Amino acid sequence: MNKQFSEELNQCISFHGHLCPGLIYGYLVAQKASELLHINRSKDEEIVAVCENDSCAVDALQVILGTSSGKGNLIIQNYGKNAFTIFSRSEKKAYRFSRTTTYAYTGLDSHEFQMLEKKVADGTATIEEKKRQKYLKAIDLIEQPFEAVFKTEETAYHPPDYAPLAPSKPCGLCGEMTMSTRMVSSDTHGLLCIPCSYKRTNLK
Ligand SMILES: [Zn+2]
Ligand SMILES: [Zn+2]
Repeated sequence: MNKQFSEELNQCISFHGHLCPGLIYGYLVAQKASELLHINRSKDEEIVAVCENDSCAVDALQVILGTSSGKGNLIIQNYGKNAFTIFSRSEKKAYRFSRTTTYAYTGLDSHEFQMLEKKVADGTATIEEKKRQKYLKAIDLIEQPFEAVFKTEETAYHPPDYAPLAPSKPCGLCGEMTMSTRMVSSDTHGLLCIPCSYKRTNLK
């Protein structure tokens, strides 16, 4: 573990498996959202994160904000955008964080970093060199002021619905228990799970 990092960042690295710029984006957003919305880790669904990408950043939000896909308060709308909206149900407030600048490299040791960038671009970088390049980028991001990395806007409070709960029923074809609101009705076999409904369509 890296001693100079906060405990929370070390937890993110342990969960995610490595330190990378993407994880830092999520870490920075989670810290800023906690500060602006006065939130701690979400035990239930009091915080909701809507992520416009499915990158490494999402893991830091899961660790720090407790937003997880299993609880239904982590929603991925994968537009490939480095943008995140965090809702607090108790404060009835939401903030959207987005990147509007390219990577600045401001604080990086330029000689080493440029050498690594060139090697990565050429395809000649070793695994260690790739790791080092990611590490340098990640450290550079941590050291920048938040405002230099993300634009912050308070947005209208329209949180997604709570995670739906519905009884499970057996599928009319495979017999497997399936959440009834995710089933499709058929003329011949009653309610079907989605994979079975596709199979029937393909058989026709
Ligand atoms: Zn990563
Ligand atoms: Zn089925």
